[in-house]
Amino acid sequence: MNSLAPSPQSRDKLRTRTPMRCPICDGSLAKVMIRDIGGLTAGTTWQVHAGECPQHGWFQTEIVSRPPREIFAVTKPFGAARRVVVGGREHFSFSTVWNDLSGDERRKPTDPLEAKYWQVRPLSTPDS
Ligand SMILES: [Zn+2]
Repeated sequence: MNSLAPSPQSRDKLRTRTPMRCPICDGSLAKVMIRDIGGLTAGTTWQVHAGECPQHGWFQTEIVSRPPREIFAVTKPFGAARRVVVGGREHFSFSTVWNDLSGDERRKPTDPLEAKYWQVRPLSTPDS
């Protein structure tokens, strides 16, 4: 019985559709990879999305039935976090506008792939 241990490769799907864009230049990402992790509960959407900006490298985010709160810079798809410097400031992650919704709005059933929630906050706005 090998059904509980599928090879990691088989779970990675090459698709071109992700709402994620480069959080630095808002460019579309090449080499998009989406890994379905599967949910503990039926109906849970649990995915990791990764994609490469030709100029700014790899980015990744994870969704669990909700749009992502942050997009991370990574060294490679499903790899370690890396630091990027934008305008003299260091960033490891980029907050999305999903954070700006009220708790009530966030609790509503929402398509986790709704692109408007994947936009990153302007980098010029300090978030602390
Ligand atoms: Zn970019």
